[in-house]
Amino acid sequence: MTSAGILDPRLPSPLQEVADDRFDRHGVRLLLKRDDLIHPDLIGNKWRKLVPNIEAAAGRPLLTFGGAYSNHLRATAAAGRLLGFPTVGVVRGEELAGRPLNPSLARCAADGMRLHFVDRSTYRRKAEPEVLAGLLRAAGAQHAYVVPEGGSNAAAVRGCRALGEELRGRTDVVAVACGTGGTLAGLAAGLGAGQRALGVPVLKGGFLAAETARLQVAAFGARSGDWSLDERFHFGGYGRTTPALHAFAADFEDRHGVRVERLYVAKLLFGLVELAAEGAFGRGTRVAAVVTA
Ligand SMILES: *Cc1c(COP(=O)(O)O)cnc(C)c1O
Repeated sequence: MTSAGILDPRLPSPLQEVADDRFDRHGVRLLLKRDDLIHPDLIGNKWRKLVPNIEAAAGRPLLTFGGAYSNHLRATAAAGRLLGFPTVGVVRGEELAGRPLNPSLARCAADGMRLHFVDRSTYRRKAEPEVLAGLLRAAGAQHAYVVPEGGSNAAAVRGCRALGEELRGRTDVVAVACGTGGTLAGLAAGLGAGQRALGVPVLKGGFLAAETARLQVAAFGARSGDWSLDERFHFGGYGRTTPALHAFAADFEDRHGVRVERLYVAKLLFGLVELAAEGAFGRGTRVAAVVTA
């Protein structure tokens, strides 16, 4: 049986049209691609990225990396519990060792993930072969299958192609919030002719276009599909929010009865409302927003 069979995900995820006057008045149709409904215990796009890696790990422990509030660590731990394979999480911040775990890490631990805390300078250098080998030894996981921070490698990007394929013929633009760019890289490659993908980075820094292109070359051998970024909606960077963003998200929840996750999805939807107001989408354009969590 495949991993997908055991997890019993809801795929393709639902696509729902919502009536919102901020889009209607420009003749734009807003659709929500509900990847948050794929599985109750797994963040949607993290699930799409993990499945091909779980298959490649073939039962070996899966070791990966993240900060103290990483959605990717949580999804990996949950998948390990559901599918019965060991997981090891290398967590940024030596000072966290021995302290009570925050709710996110407590969930990881409850799902059976072994947590290994490292200092920030080692964490920064984790991709260097000697540093990685030392980390694996110290974590007692020399034979682990290693997934990079954020879960984006070539296999993960290929896994996200299905997100684009599910939307073929059903929308003109697909917008997604970006952390590493892996989801956007796969999504864009899966879309059909005449469709385009728009990424809204939640991190500040302007490195994401190069990184998304690099991930596409790693996954597919070349850049693929029609995609672009709008870098204006990070609200100060990863994990940063403002009262205006929270008010926007609460209002969207009231209007549409959909929970709006604040660190990625709220920034995406805010950006789309702004773009519609700017006239960025022609009349009749169907815009699908990926609700990743
Ligand atoms: C990780 C994450 C993303 C971004 O995915 P990337 O592939 O890293 O760009 C978007 N939304 C949510 C809710 C996430 O947890």
